[in-house]
Amino acid sequence: MSKDYYEVLGISREATTIDIKTTYKKLAFEYHPDRNPDNTEAEERFKEINEAYQVLSDEGKRAQYDSFGHISNEGGYRSNYSNINDLFGDLFDEVFSSGGRSTAYRGNDLKYDLQLEFDEAAFGLAKEIKIKKRKLCDNCEGSGAEAGGETICNTCGGKGAVAYSQGFFSINQSCSACSGRGKIITNPCKNCSGVGTEYFEQKVQVNIPAGISNGARLKMRGEGEPGLGGGQSGDLYIRMIVKEHPLFERDGSNLFCEVPINFVQAALGDEIEVPVLKGTTKMKIPSGTQPGQSFRIKGKGLVDIQTGNLGDVYVVVNVVIPKKLNKNQKELLKEFSKDYNDNSEPLIEKYLNKFKELIN
Ligand SMILES: [Zn+2]
Ligand SMILES: [Zn+2]
Repeated sequence: MSKDYYEVLGISREATTIDIKTTYKKLAFEYHPDRNPDNTEAEERFKEINEAYQVLSDEGKRAQYDSFGHISNEGGYRSNYSNINDLFGDLFDEVFSSGGRSTAYRGNDLKYDLQLEFDEAAFGLAKEIKIKKRKLCDNCEGSGAEAGGETICNTCGGKGAVAYSQGFFSINQSCSACSGRGKIITNPCKNCSGVGTEYFEQKVQVNIPAGISNGARLKMRGEGEPGLGGGQSGDLYIRMIVKEHPLFERDGSNLFCEVPINFVQAALGDEIEVPVLKGTTKMKIPSGTQPGQSFRIKGKGLVDIQTGNLGDVYVVVNVVIPKKLNKNQKELLKEFSKDYNDNSEPLIEKYLNKFKELIN
């Protein structure tokens, strides 16, 4: 991922063209290789600053960067300035004259949130999605003007920059009348309303592997926006939004399910039917099962994407105490309690011992 250009220049997203220019001048001067011989860090910084400036100083590129995250310059910026004195002369000339240079721009990466049913994520599938992409306008090929709908800018005479002097430097400033383009649109392109780009929709086949988890991202190389000037296409990042299961909680490839049983089943033991990933299975509950006790059913969970191993299902038992008992049931329980000494239950015994210690 390329760095945030605003951060590189240390300016806010609302910075004006003038702010950008002055900050750039200061930084470029500070980090210029001539002032920092044999300092690779400064050299890297200088390149970053130039790259950020090339994008943010160009209104069109800046707008594209603001709305689409980034514009990657294929191969990165290469500085041609061997002499710092050239910096405020040629550099500005080059930066501001938009014509004559052919630069390949990598297409933007795109993001897509894909909603999946729990089972779709669990078992995997191929899904077709529609992606909205931007490309150069077919009608104007990016100029934003109808054929012949542009004139040379009067202010800068088509150079895209105007010169002014500051101290002993002669500085070329981007022409504000034409935003540095050197041309002014008199008849905007009817297809793109002068923007220079248009949207199109593309179908993309996504192969979702079994066991993919919520929030996982799939990268599809080259499925992002097309590049400009022969540049590479961007990538498409698909984020999985997986719906919750009505009964299972997922943790990696393991599934957890809370199953309520009644107190008689817990006391006497039973065999119950519980859900697993594919269908159901019978599970034995031993006598004396405690609330919150969990039982593992091996290999009935999800596929682990990394290892291909199957996860497990954990059944967590919740013991339900009856809220309503009829007369007969109450009598039976009273009868039962005559014969039942709960002091011998380890949990109760432990508590009672501690309680006695406390009050003595
Ligand atoms: Zn157009
Ligand atoms: Zn101009």
